Amino acid sequence: MAAPGENLRINGDRLWDSLMEMAKIGPGVAGGNNRQTLTDEDGDGRALFQRWCEDAGCTMGLDQMGNMFAHRAGADPEALPIYVGSHLDTQPTGGKYDGVLGVLGGLEILRSLNDLGIKTKHPIVVTNFTNEEGTRFAPAMLASGVFIGMHDQDWAYDRVDAEGKRFGDELQRIGWRGDEEVGKRKMHAFFELHIEQGPILEAEGKEIGVVTHGQGLWWLEVTLTGKDAHTGSTPMDMRVNAGLGMARITEAVHRIAMDHQPGAVGAVGQANVYPNSRNVIPGKAVFTIDFRTPDLDKLTAMRSRLEAEAAEIAADLGLGLTIEPVGHFDPVTFDDGCVGAVRDAAERLGYSHMNLISGAGHDACWINRVAPTAMVMCPCVDGLSHNEAEEISKDWATAGTDVLFHAVVETAGIVS
Ligand SMILES: [Zn+2]
Repeated sequence: MAAPGENLRINGDRLWDSLMEMAKIGPGVAGGNNRQTLTDEDGDGRALFQRWCEDAGCTMGLDQMGNMFAHRAGADPEALPIYVGSHLDTQPTGGKYDGVLGVLGGLEILRSLNDLGIKTKHPIVVTNFTNEEGTRFAPAMLASGVFIGMHDQDWAYDRVDAEGKRFGDELQRIGWRGDEEVGKRKMHAFFELHIEQGPILEAEGKEIGVVTHGQGLWWLEVTLTGKDAHTGSTPMDMRVNAGLGMARITEAVHRIAMDHQPGAVGAVGQANVYPNSRNVIPGKAVFTIDFRTPDLDKLTAMRSRLEAEAAEIAADLGLGLTIEPVGHFDPVTFDDGCVGAVRDAAERLGYSHMNLISGAGHDACWINRVAPTAMVMCPCVDGLSHNEAEEISKDWATAGTDVLFHAVVETAGIVS
């Protein structure tokens, strides 16, 4: 089947209007959005998306995790659908584009196919995954995780928010729990368009990120125990200072990540000392290490070296030490064929592009385990995301969706 012609384009104005219309639901306090998962606002956003999809001639599916599926028929009844999508839920102080662009970009593809009277061999299904953000109900990417069998559905239903409300009850309450068995759908391929949420594309002056890998991650929670003591009257050689241990381990995290270049990162982002008083030597420190790299060997090596160095530091200072893993993802390698379709699309359309590694988790990282998958990224201003000031240009959104359009249509095959 021939590749789509380079004159095939989506309607950037219509895409932008839809993004702005969706952003009116669950407005934030500073120009962004607060449309957290399974709130009334999430329900309103879903209803608007569903109405738009039905207007575009789609039939809708809804599974027991609230994942939404807008189906556009293909010419071959035997052919598995190409899935496209992301998430409509946001952070409490989130932006207008994180996730939303991937869902409404998918809808724009269907609208454009309708405008052009194009029939594809494979059906195309646009998806809104429930609770990608994981802020209200941890963990992130909860519903796509159930979809691929990573999490048990009953376990997901039992997740509670800060007020003790259950995920399953809230899904029922907003009226978006469907009957369809989760994960029964088979995909020919999956594509997700997302804003970069980092500064690389803008700094490099590229319009398109061809995402080849997703970072693997270890979160390690370290607890050091020493002895609370007066900062003024305790001699230096009699201190058991958990704060000092934390400082040395923080330094080690940075050094270990630097020793695993290129492509490895490490930091301590969350730290607490106890009792956290100006004139008390900390008797306890609890902090979280975040190591990431797309290379599994490096990821494993960074964790082992940290464990060894932390043990030495703790022994040297006389501190008690525990290290508990509190988060983990294996690195993701996206499908060569799908990644190639994204790169070819950018090339054909004349958009500047570069390979990129996704630094954040996405639904695509889970779906990649059950179907050939790739991601398209577009720049965002100053790399800012999970922030109400998150911003992209209409041109970037259009370029990203054009590339998504071509990659999806080429994979779906044009029959007329
Ligand atoms: Zn997102």
